[in-house]
Amino acid sequence: LELRALAERQPELASAVAMHLEIAEMYRRIQGRVPLPWFELSTEAVARHNAEARPLLRFEEIPIELTDLRLLVRQTADILRRHDAIEESDRQKIEAVGRDMKLLAVAAQWYRQPPNVTSRPASAELAAPHRMATSPTPGSSTRCSRSRCGRSCHAARRCCSSARRWRTGRIHTARSAARNPDFAVITPSAERHLICGRCSLQWKFDTLTCPYCRNSDRSRITSFATPNGQYRVYACDVCRRYLKAYDARHASRPVMPVVDGVATLPLDAAAIQRGYQ
Ligand SMILES: [Zn+2]
Repeated sequence: LELRALAERQPELASAVAMHLEIAEMYRRIQGRVPLPWFELSTEAVARHNAEARPLLRFEEIPIELTDLRLLVRQTADILRRHDAIEESDRQKIEAVGRDMKLLAVAAQWYRQPPNVTSRPASAELAAPHRMATSPTPGSSTRCSRSRCGRSCHAARRCCSSARRWRTGRIHTARSAARNPDFAVITPSAERHLICGRCSLQWKFDTLTCPYCRNSDRSRITSFATPNGQYRVYACDVCRRYLKAYDARHASRPVMPVVDGVATLPLDAAAIQRGYQ
């Protein structure tokens, strides 16, 4: 409903909304069939994973039906291609991975790896911000899909629960691995919470410190908002990266990362035009 309302308010976002509606519909169909995992959640287990900064839920404990995962991968690629978010050659590559018997191993590798700057927009898109404003980048699309993929296991909510240092800008998913935030929300009490794009976990973080390079020099943090004050960009003048935030202080609904991610595509274009990544 929020996505449809967004397309009505901002017709220039209609194509991006249409794509995300298809993805949401696909996941809703599949999520109903996914069983919940069983795993140890004792005080000792939580203390241990806190001490070791390792994920509470291991990949092996997530009950994944290979048939459903294959369907998910293939249909996601089809949707992205139909909306021109990926090239045909990439769709074919994804389809090949989806057919491959090693798909579970590929998914396991993704679950364990530390996602990093490679999921940011590619240089081609940096040169064409207008394209970003009308359709999500391949990076953000697949990131979204992959996060949904993880969430469809009803388990990824715990993927980041190894956040030992919750006040740091990254979620520690393994001893030396970390996950960068994809979005943020300013809470009614004016705190800034970062959001993991993979599992939607939120964690509190200093309002004017860059979560990517930890720059806390306020004169080197550029912040700008949409005219209605609903969204804000925090851009770092040290590492040149930026983070978008939903300002929930005067909002009628909580943050919705998928909806807000699409709604802020024009902010991506504005940030990129100012030279941020
Ligand atoms: Zn920075």
